[in-house]
Amino acid sequence: MISRTDLRGALPEDLRHVLPRAELDVEAALEKVRPICEDVHHRGVEAVRELTARFDGVELESTRVPVETVTRALEELDPRIRAALEESIRRARLVHRDQRRTDVTTQVVPGGTVTERWVPVERVGLYVPGGRAVYPSSVVMNVVPAQEAGVSSLAVTSPAQKEFGGLPHPTILAACALLGVDEVYAVGGAQAVAMFAYGTEECPPATMVTGPGNIWVAAAKRLLKGRIGIDSEAGPTEIAILADSTADPVHVAADLISQAEHDTIAAAVLVTDSAELAEAVERELPRQVAATKHGERVTEALSGRQSGIILVDDMEAGLRVVDAYAAEHLEIHTADAPALAARVRNAGAIFVGAYAPVSLGDYLAGSNHVLPTGGCACHSSGLSVQTFLRGIHVVDYTREALAGAAAHVCVLADAEDLPAHGAAIRARFDWEVPS
Ligand code: NAD
Repeated sequence: MISRTDLRGALPEDLRHVLPRAELDVEAALEKVRPICEDVHHRGVEAVRELTARFDGVELESTRVPVETVTRALEELDPRIRAALEESIRRARLVHRDQRRTDVTTQVVPGGTVTERWVPVERVGLYVPGGRAVYPSSVVMNVVPAQEAGVSSLAVTSPAQKEFGGLPHPTILAACALLGVDEVYAVGGAQAVAMFAYGTEECPPATMVTGPGNIWVAAAKRLLKGRIGIDSEAGPTEIAILADSTADPVHVAADLISQAEHDTIAAAVLVTDSAELAEAVERELPRQVAATKHGERVTEALSGRQSGIILVDDMEAGLRVVDAYAAEHLEIHTADAPALAARVRNAGAIFVGAYAPVSLGDYLAGSNHVLPTGGCACHSSGLSVQTFLRGIHVVDYTREALAGAAAHVCVLADAEDLPAHGAAIRARFDWEVPS
């Protein structure tokens, strides 16, 4: 069901080539999404409707969901789901509120200050997945940090669902209403990202698009980055588990399966120095997969080349492997998990010990579940308040403070052969540079 790679002995210098990765990666998907995005650019809402018919099997009259429909979804929401969503929102707010930035003014010299002023982006499009599974939790994870950052215009989009009359899933609509978002679109995939990037007759363009999605969504974000701001490439999910002989194979198998459940190209990787644990997990997986609802999808994900068990000599080697892999989610099940967690350099989020499974982070830890995938965790972060802010430097110098810098500015301008830069200083001091 799951492959095994034995890296005991010397680890290869460039580990990336031996680590499990999906065949269909963002790079490979780029050429498929290019014509989709160009179509939306040139033909607007008509293209979005046609692409929704092709990929989601829904003929949309309008891409925008009526506000009354969003409100009604909350009225009809199962009270247990409402209570769980409310608690998820409460916890996420606690964490994200603490991420707010305050403006900082630094006095560089008397009369010369630089202030870093934090300003939210104006309008964001928030993507909420809804292909194989539906993700009301992703409404929470997108909307809460954007609201805490102070973004004033928020629009949510999620794929049209055939079985719900071409609307996004009702729980997604209800979650939007719960958070006070009433601009909602029934559009998924690459065409949704293009809709926000270029705007259509029904949807004004956004400054930024964020949120998780499948490989097509992640590829469209990479393609349109620059035209529109993006968060990270939060594509098909990944779990890596770093475990030693103290780990419980039942927990490890359950957590691998829980992430494999997302997508046939989801990745589930166990890195361990214990051959006994590897064998126990190999025995446990088929037992639990047989009892799980989405067994077929899970089996395809676990047996794909993006998943596997990696045997290493010790936890030092294990750390090198997980750092090279840079997983979206990294669980640590070892004797001294906090100490090991403190040494990890690359991961979207780290889950420490037996009682912090990724499922908790997906819904209720308070942390954000929109996280970088495909190795992007070595340079990108998960969604946060910071994602929606720009730090603008405000430079304020008096005549005297400029006089104190003038000579150095002129010397550096000459060194760069940009004499007009120096002239801009001299012009303020009757062409005499104060020394
Ligand atoms: P989705 O909403 O991401 O994608 C569905 C859309 O994909 C459809 O609306 C359709 O338009 C488009 N599509 C389907 N097949 C296509 C094709 N062949 N070509 C072009 N477009 C196509 O929903 P999903 O498929 O269920 O995927 C959700 C993904 O989100 C999963 O991979 C899951 O692992 C991931 N996820 C990631 C994170 C993260 O933070 N990294 C968090 C949650 C979920």
